[in-house]
Amino acid sequence: MIGIGVDIGGTFVKVFVMNEHGEIFRQEKMETDYSKGPKFFLQQIADYINKIQKEFADQRVAVGIGAPGDVDNKKGILRYNPNLKFKDVSDWPIARIIKDLTGITPSVANDATLAAWGVYEKELNRQGTNVLVVTLGTGVGGGMIVNRELFQGSNGTAGEIGHTKIADVHNGPLCGCGARGCLEAFVGTIGIKRRVMEAVMDAPESELAKMVEAEKDFKIELVSRAAKKGCPAAKKVWEDTGFYLGIGLANFCLMLDVDTIVLAGGVSGASEYFMPSLRRVLEQQQIQTPFKKLKLITSSNPNIGGIGAAMYAIHQALVHP
Ligand SMILES: [Zn+2]
Repeated sequence: MIGIGVDIGGTFVKVFVMNEHGEIFRQEKMETDYSKGPKFFLQQIADYINKIQKEFADQRVAVGIGAPGDVDNKKGILRYNPNLKFKDVSDWPIARIIKDLTGITPSVANDATLAAWGVYEKELNRQGTNVLVVTLGTGVGGGMIVNRELFQGSNGTAGEIGHTKIADVHNGPLCGCGARGCLEAFVGTIGIKRRVMEAVMDAPESELAKMVEAEKDFKIELVSRAAKKGCPAAKKVWEDTGFYLGIGLANFCLMLDVDTIVLAGGVSGASEYFMPSLRRVLEQQQIQTPFKKLKLITSSNPNIGGIGAAMYAIHQALVHP
């Protein structure tokens, strides 16, 4: 059994070819041309799938596709995505087009949802019954394993933890989705950067301010470097990030009582700086039961989206042969 996992990102596409034992045969960053439009884009992915089908002609091939945005997982349609480079993509029937071009009906789901499955299979070895995976980056996504199965909700949108509200929806900070007060507006990279700029204004002599001034191309890891040097302003940015993330996770735990939370994505690399304040928020909850035995861990695997897409495709094919 071969699984092809396709992780459609904002800037490039990652592809993984694996078998049911988790062995990876191919791992590629596909050169894709977004400028030629959505049709050409999917044709490129289909060509790759057809090439792999020929190469592994003696085996059954399943395909999983993770797409950023609002995905109808049952019909394999990308309903809406604000971040893809195609202006005219809404209700994009990815599954039908790929089926027409390759003969394989792919499992299409939200990218963070499939990343959650990747973490569950590859990182946790299916340890845990109810698991939340939060992907921390520009966007804040989430995926859930409930009773050891991927939970996608009634419409395929389950796990949008980034757009749950943790602040005033009229006056809170603006989120990329257009609403105010979302968790993502506080702990997504844009929200973190906003607090960095406020900190720079408040403490222009700080190490953080000097580094921001010196390095024109601002990246979040700069804040970690400043924190490592002991800069109080940088430490405070991470401390606040942990506090806000803690509120979001506490709300989630009170709702779903998961046994494990995995923080993935680029920002999770700064966990040593934000984890203490995050844990404090969880410890301060009045109802302590969901938090007492909660495992809170980080995953640094940057390829978990593509791996998850491949492994979920195999899982689906084995469950529904
Ligand atoms: Zn939002």
